[in-house]
Amino acid sequence: MARIGFVGLGNMGGPMARNLAKAGHDVRAFDLVPALVARCVEGGCVAAASAAEAARGADAVFTMLPAGAQVREAWLGAGGMAAASRANAVLVDCSTIDVATAREVAAASGRAFLDAPVSGGVMGAEAATLAFMVGGPGGAFAQVEPLLRQMGRAAIHCGEAGAGQAAKACNNMVLAATMIATCEAFVLAEKLGLTHQALFEVMSRSSGQSWSLTTYCPVPGPVPASPANKGYAPGFSAALMLKDLGLAAEAAAAVGAATPMGSRALEMYRAFVDDGGGTKDFSGIIERMRGL
Ligand code: NAD
Repeated sequence: MARIGFVGLGNMGGPMARNLAKAGHDVRAFDLVPALVARCVEGGCVAAASAAEAARGADAVFTMLPAGAQVREAWLGAGGMAAASRANAVLVDCSTIDVATAREVAAASGRAFLDAPVSGGVMGAEAATLAFMVGGPGGAFAQVEPLLRQMGRAAIHCGEAGAGQAAKACNNMVLAATMIATCEAFVLAEKLGLTHQALFEVMSRSSGQSWSLTTYCPVPGPVPASPANKGYAPGFSAALMLKDLGLAAEAAAAVGAATPMGSRALEMYRAFVDDGGGTKDFSGIIERMRGL
């Protein structure tokens, strides 16, 4: 059993903190929204009065916050979490943020700091089946790997500080591009008089196969659990996909990498979000593509 601090108890952080409490750890939880703290207390966590209090005395401290600005503020700014934490604590940020801020916060924290963004969404957070991609010192990774395993099914050490965020940006850029390509194929098939089921049967056993098709099929029917069967309720919202594509574009620009598919996917998700699609699942972009 470990003493754990957890800050940011939203759609993702709430179930992650509760899973650590369920595993028997002493979890001190904080969020700016008191109702979210209360839900975690019901789930076995102990309420902390501030972010710094959650961090104080813990073996490992986690954050799951919206973006880089909140992460910097919580660890280094008014939140004061890094300074409040024990000198030998492992600090873990699971938020999806830009590579540059992840490196900056890690360097300034004065502690063993890991960037550990996740894949798997809210369902994965609740079911403890997330995949963690982790950057930072290998020794710190080894120390918290058992905790990551209690919130997820995979934890991959990708390299030094920022490597987790780099891996997340690359992965989600591919996800966006394969989703758009899969939607494009279904829209073309509809116009060619091919049924959704027929195209699914062929592509899922052919070289057009991908996660976007076989786990997250963007048309209702072939994969009953996919958001297409629930009116495109997320799932993983288009607004979050747009955010991740922005982070990938920022990272690509910083190192001079050409990402033409990523750039086009960014434009298409921006248009979908501008048209009011932000709260829909990202596979819902197929509805906009039918109208193009
Ligand atoms: P969310 O908005 O539901 O939760 C964020 C929480 O952080 C909120 O409850 C907010 O009150 C709290 N918060 C903000 N600033 C704070 C501060 N200074 N101190 C304490 N609490 C603070 O967001 P989410 O969906 O849980 O996403 C969190 C992160 O996970 C984001 O970076 C997101 O990109 C990433 N992510 C989300 C998903 C998903 O499907 N929702 C999937 C993968 C990754």
